[in-house]
Amino acid sequence: MAAVKGRDTIPEKLVRSTLYREGFRFRLHRRDLPGNPDIVLPRYRSIVFVHGCFWHGHDCRKGRRRPQSRSEFWTAKLEGNIARDCANQVALTAKGWKVFTVWTCQTESDTRRVLSSLRRQRNKRLLSTGASRN
Ligand SMILES: [Zn+2]
Repeated sequence: MAAVKGRDTIPEKLVRSTLYREGFRFRLHRRDLPGNPDIVLPRYRSIVFVHGCFWHGHDCRKGRRRPQSRSEFWTAKLEGNIARDCANQVALTAKGWKVFTVWTCQTESDTRRVLSSLRRQRNKRLLSTGASRN
């Protein structure tokens, strides 16, 4: 498996374009936040991580897969990733961020979930601020 743990993966682009189309604005890869979150929506105090199932140990077929060779290395590496994700999430939540995870095996349904939460927040905001839509 190629070490594609990089930026701008196809699922991440999909999430970004969906949010943008719906009028949500965001910043990318904020280095000042735990875990350098992929997508940050400051106005909604929300964060979206787009996680590859293998690298981040999703509980799905691909996420449970372990390479046959160098299995100790991989177990340590992947468990380290999972522990780090968990710690980042705890730290962000403690700072008042709402944290979403979009898994690559279910990008569309996870993105819908994020969208509906953001829409609810936006509606609430519109109701409470009245005409000054900000
Ligand atoms: Zn998965």
